[in-house]
Amino acid sequence: MPAPLPRPSILSIEPYVGGESKIPGVNRIVKLSSNEGAFGVPPGAQAAYAKLATELHRYPDGGATALREAIGARFGLDPARIVCGNGSDELIGALIMSYGGEGTELVMSAHGFVMYDIAGRYAGSQVIKVPEKNFTADVDAMLAAVGPRTKLVFLANPNNPTGAFLPAAEVARLRAGLREDVLLVLDAAYAEYVTRPDYDPGTGLIEAGTNTVMTRTFSKVFGLGGIRLGWCYAPAPVVDILNRVRGPFNVNAPAMAAGIAALAEPGWVEKSVAHNDEWRAKVSDGLRTAGITVHPSEGNFILADFGTPARAKAADAALKARGLIVRAMGSYSLPHCLRITIGTAEECGMVLDALTGFLRSAPADA
Ligand SMILES: *Cc1c(COP(=O)(O)O)cnc(C)c1O
Repeated sequence: MPAPLPRPSILSIEPYVGGESKIPGVNRIVKLSSNEGAFGVPPGAQAAYAKLATELHRYPDGGATALREAIGARFGLDPARIVCGNGSDELIGALIMSYGGEGTELVMSAHGFVMYDIAGRYAGSQVIKVPEKNFTADVDAMLAAVGPRTKLVFLANPNNPTGAFLPAAEVARLRAGLREDVLLVLDAAYAEYVTRPDYDPGTGLIEAGTNTVMTRTFSKVFGLGGIRLGWCYAPAPVVDILNRVRGPFNVNAPAMAAGIAALAEPGWVEKSVAHNDEWRAKVSDGLRTAGITVHPSEGNFILADFGTPARAKAADAALKARGLIVRAMGSYSLPHCLRITIGTAEECGMVLDALTGFLRSAPADA
């Protein structure tokens, strides 16, 4: 009997591999595999979430009005141009399904965030991966890869998993070099962590035209990955499209309440960013001193390069033996690397300890 078959492009999708969270036989796990914030859930967000328990029979506000207003107030943006989603992943998918699809191309950098590839194939778009320079998106190469069928260009800035970032002038040059009818999506999931003066998540480009979108998330610095909450800032015509295609109640009520409370948590972002700056430097320097290449990162994670896949695997095993779970990078074509989230001071100390011990017992030329 012939079985129902999906569209051929669906079968080319490699299922997303999330960060692991368990090690058989190990009791105390330190999960540094998904870039979740170092300080857990903001206390105000926990309370707001719990408070909604008696209201769960009510449908949420499908327009996410209060949340959009809170985001607008916090970041100085027009709430009418914000669309909220079940994680920014939902919005990334909706943009690709709306503007991409069979017969079109989506351009991304070689080690760009894997969801663009997954959602692109789902839509039936041809996904073009452009080689990077020094693990960083190459604007000239991306522009050269754009053809008449290109509808979407994705740039994560800073990028996950490399941690690389493009200065505002480079992002502006990318936009200026694209045709007006190409939608540029700037994924700023880690925007809050960036402290460089030459960084811009892209707000100006969005307000200056009709063809650039910025996506953001509550999953990283705001510590709310488990409730699935993201948003985008977009030109009015794109907002209109997203509001047509999204589920009418795509963001749930406790998620919205927790998100609003997280935005209001006093000093949360400042504390998280200061901690991240301090410990990202300490872990990076410590690993470099021990002989590992660590790529410069603007996010709450680092990409450690062990030279060969076998050595990265051995390092991963040494970390696991101490209960430390980091992210293997095979699905990003970086099997010689491990991505390590910056956790608490104690957790960072454990990583440094485990890896310096590993390198002493297994030197590079061994
Ligand atoms: C984590 C991450 C996201 C996904 O965020 P959600 O809002 O949890 O869906 C998007 N883009 C990048 C680059 C990320 O690292």
